[in-house]
Amino acid sequence: MGRFAPSPTGPLHLGSLYTALASYLDARWHNGYWLLRIDDLDTPRNRPGAVSAILACLEAFGLYWDGEIYYQSQHIQAYDDALAVLQAQKQIYGCVCSRKILDQYPGVYPGFCRDAPPCARQQALRVKTQSHLIAFTDALQGPIAENLAIQHGDFVVKRKDDIVAYQLAVVVDDHAQRINHVVRGFDLLSSTPKQWFLQNLLNYHHPEYMHVPVIVDTHGQKLSKQSYATAINFLNPGPVLWRLLALLGQNPPVQLDQASVAELLEWAVEHWQPQNLKKISAIQDTIE
Ligand SMILES: [Zn+2]
Repeated sequence: MGRFAPSPTGPLHLGSLYTALASYLDARWHNGYWLLRIDDLDTPRNRPGAVSAILACLEAFGLYWDGEIYYQSQHIQAYDDALAVLQAQKQIYGCVCSRKILDQYPGVYPGFCRDAPPCARQQALRVKTQSHLIAFTDALQGPIAENLAIQHGDFVVKRKDDIVAYQLAVVVDDHAQRINHVVRGFDLLSSTPKQWFLQNLLNYHHPEYMHVPVIVDTHGQKLSKQSYATAINFLNPGPVLWRLLALLGQNPPVQLDQASVAELLEWAVEHWQPQNLKKISAIQDTIE
């Protein structure tokens, strides 16, 4: 069971289509389901029309998902239930630190509020990290180990503006959707030890993780909605798909460069070789 979880902040760009394709091929190669989750919790960043643009793009590239679309905004109760479990374990606490204070401690939260008495002020919720190694093996990047207490400190599971933090939501969703293969961009690898730790606390199974390189432009910048790759031309998706397969190291046959999306995907699922992906953080899109 694999999944793709875009946020509806704009149309898909080449970089997000590339990770969608990797996760789709991996799921289909395993004869698994491929689910679509809309990461729409960060409501101020949601853009009208973005969901339909994302769906139209996936359909144009033949990346059909299984079952109903899972909207995070419809699962607030599940996140609150998980927070209640952590609360009952005394694993979370309110943090009233201002941005100004936190900016003086970049990267690692110093734990100021850990032992403070509860207060009524608007506050974020943090989970207590422990000083031991979180270790797992990424299917592409190899062994990963991190000491959360030393390297990050207690991290936020519910934001001060009352929005559930990404780290908690994704763990609850992956569990609810019974995801056992997570294929996503290298930029999310730094989140995985936190998610692994939350899975431990909530007594969830750990999925297998594979973090694929992100595509960068010729200046080394990650493709994002802000950079040049604002939207994909999907009037002629075949050549774009061929190019994405080449960027995934799948060596699509030259004679398929004018093939239909359906033919290309059929070839790609059958020949999926994740070991051909490069064990690096980023890959430059130099194919024109
Ligand atoms: Zn604090």
